[in-house]
Formats: sequence, C-alpha cells, structure tokens
Amino acid sequence: KHAAKIRLDDVKGEQSREKDKADRATSEQVLDQRTRMILLQMINRGFVSEVHGAISTGKEANVYGAVAYPDLDGPPIQRAIKVYKTAILSFKDRERYITGEHRFKSGAEKGNSRKMVKLWAEKEFRNLRRIHSAGIKCPEPIQLKLHVLVMELLGDRKGYAYPRLRDAAISGDDSEEVWRSLYIQLLGIMRRMYQVCRLVHADLSEYNILYNNRQLYIIDVSQSVEHDHPRSLEFLRMDIKNTGDFFRREGVDILPDRVVFDFVTV
Ligand code: ADP
Ligand code: MN
Repeated sequence: KHAAKIRLDDVKGEQSREKDKADRATSEQVLDQRTRMILLQMINRGFVSEVHGAISTGKEANVYGAVAYPDLDGPPIQRAIKVYKTAILSFKDRERYITGEHRFKSGAEKGNSRKMVKLWAEKEFRNLRRIHSAGIKCPEPIQLKLHVLVMELLGDRKGYAYPRLRDAAISGDDSEEVWRSLYIQLLGIMRRMYQVCRLVHADLSEYNILYNNRQLYIIDVSQSVEHDHPRSLEFLRMDIKNTGDFFRREGVDILPDRVVFDFVTV
C-alpha cells in the first residue's frame, strides 16, 4: 500500500539535496542498526514512506526529512524525524534540566544513556503535544518510538524546511515593522507557553525558532521544564535575555527584561 522505500544512501548521511561538499563532509555518520529497525517499522506502519537526507546534524540529535503518503492517490505529507544520539557526552550538559523535574522520576536512569535518550525523546514528544494543543505554532508530534520522534515538517510542500529565525531573510521597507511585530509575537508565545502549557522553553533563541511568512514556530523543546521546576524562573530569565538580545541587535526597541518577565508570569 505504502511506497515503502527507505533510501539508505540518504539515511547513511548522503544529502539528497544539492549541498556543498564541506557540508557533506561534516554530515554525520551511519545510523545504527536499532535506529534503522525503528525507521523500517515506522515505514511498515505508514507513519513515513521515505526517509531522506539530514536537515540538521547536531550534537544531541540529527533531524531528517521524510515523506508519508497517507492516501493512495493523495498528496505526500512532509515530515521530520528527529533521531536522538546515544552519546553520553552530549547528555552531561543536560543534568540541570533533569534535577528537579518530576517527570524524570528517579536519577537511576542517569547512567544508562539508552534510557536517557528515550526519556529526552519522550519529553520532547509530550512537550510538543502540550504546546501544539495550546495553539502555539510548533511541529505537530506524530509518532514516538524509543529515541526516534516523527513530527510535522515545518517547511514547504517540496520538503524544504523553514529557516531558523537567525537566518530569516526579512528585508524591505516594512522590515522594521515586521521585526517589531515578531518580537511582540514571541512575547505572546512565551506567555502562552507559561500560562497555558505551564512550560518554560529553557533553550529559547533565534536558533530554536523557525520563521515563515511573518510567523514564528517554536522547536527543540526536549529540555523545556515545568513551571514548578526549581530552576524554571532562572531558565525563563535566560530565555528572555537571549531572545531580547537578538531582537535588540535586529533594531527592535525591546522592553526591559523585568517587564517581559512580569508579562509572561503574571
Ligand atoms: P538540536 O538543536 O538539538 O540539534 P533541533 O530540534 O533544534 O535539534 O533541530 C535541529 C534543526 O533541525 C533546527 O534548527 C531546524 O533547522 C531543523 N528542524 C528541527 N525540527 C524541524 C521541523 N519539525 N521542521 C523543519 N525543520 C526542523
Ligand atoms: Mn536546536
């Protein structure tokens, strides 16, 4: 029924798109056997039909483009698959998010990196679901299996992902006005995330926000914490500072951090 096709050359890290050689050289290793089995299982179940090349290769995860054909003759749906890496090193930094997070019941998992990546993927999945349900623009979470998360691709119908806010090409006569309205939009998102989702992003910056057509999309929420996490307000202040700094550099007359903090939390 499904065009069950896995382009293993792509999955191995070959870029399916035209990309320069330097990019290709850095673009990551072969997927391990377990990960490939999970991808094949997802193909068999129809969550995805084809897995393409890497959109992003990071320290803690790789993100791949993928396509699903839910209906025989229907249009393809673009998806993104985030594969968390089992490297222990990348999880050292993350301890501060776990300590005090009641969703990580015990610290017993700390030594087991397979369990750890599974927990991170789970946390991202649940946070995305909460954020998406609250009407905040973010990838819709589709499917989770161990350390592999399938979500909606934020991109065009051809599978090109939207740029990060960092790389957004915003120009023209009204660019000043656009930047200002994006700043206001982000304040609203932070407030809604706090008030409705009861979450603090905790790694919010121009790198974890995607941009298209005057809309901001929130991504990368595996480290986001509940508002009752003992350090949530510290993380919130950091989010406010980082995003404020960015918008200031883009020429926006930003509000003082304190004022934003009160707007978000009160
Ligand atoms: P990390 O920063 O931990 O590597 P992210 O979740 O930030 O992981 O994803 C890395 C990059 O992959 C993002 O900066 C973005 O460019 C791209 N990306 C992630 N999720 C999606 C998605 N759902 N749609 C489109 N692009 C995505
Ligand atoms: Mn990121």
